[in-house]
Amino acid sequence: MSNVDAAEIAKFSELAHRWWDPNSEFKPLHEINPLRLKWIDQQAALAGRKVLDIGCGGGILAEAMAAAGAIVSGIDLSEKALKVAKLHLYESGLSVDYQLVSAEDYATQHAGEFDVVTCMEMLEHVPDPASIVAACARLAKPGGWVFFSTLNRNAKSYLFAIVGAEYILKLLPRGTHDYAKFIQPAELARMARDAGLDTQELIGMTYNPLTRVYKLEADTDVNYLLATQRGE
Ligand code: SAH
Repeated sequence: MSNVDAAEIAKFSELAHRWWDPNSEFKPLHEINPLRLKWIDQQAALAGRKVLDIGCGGGILAEAMAAAGAIVSGIDLSEKALKVAKLHLYESGLSVDYQLVSAEDYATQHAGEFDVVTCMEMLEHVPDPASIVAACARLAKPGGWVFFSTLNRNAKSYLFAIVGAEYILKLLPRGTHDYAKFIQPAELARMARDAGLDTQELIGMTYNPLTRVYKLEADTDVNYLLATQRGE
């Protein structure tokens, strides 16, 4: 297993017990979840679909998609995060198939099985994001949807996502993000295209620290989401 940074996994594992505390380090994920869920659902009509969430962590998005009627599997390489995700199913009463496996290995076993693949807030934590993108493409059915979200790389994203979020507003623990691993939308679209995924929509996600409101809008300077579809 090579496309994994053990220090990244350790970071998430250490905090995993607080994953479902809406006021914890994971608060931003809780707050953006309704927005991204709605955006995914609008395009891929989740009810009844077979969905895989890659880098699912404690299962915030995976559970929400299951609640929307999808048949959801979730994979991650943090054993602790998956343990929390599985425990939380007892609380929610939802059902998600969680597995400790890399995207690349899962893709060799489950090629072409999924109507929808999601990979959110994860690519900026792996050594070789293009390899994850290629695995996502292999996992999708022909015509299936693959959704990504990550952080753009420019002076403004450094200021907002690292200085602002980690040092000034303290929305995230220091060291959560590594600027060098941020990915520009054109780079991600290129990885997707190389993997046989056609870009359908690129949209930005903004945070207003005064109103504390997240929004999906045209501005992709910091956080953004990319919707793609595997060619038929
Ligand atoms: N996708 C979830 C969690 C994001 S946090 C959400 O948006 O709510 C990032 C997650 O990526 C963590 O759970 C971490 O364990 C996982 N991760 C990091 N590197 C990974 C890798 N190489 N393979 C699989 N999961 C990875």
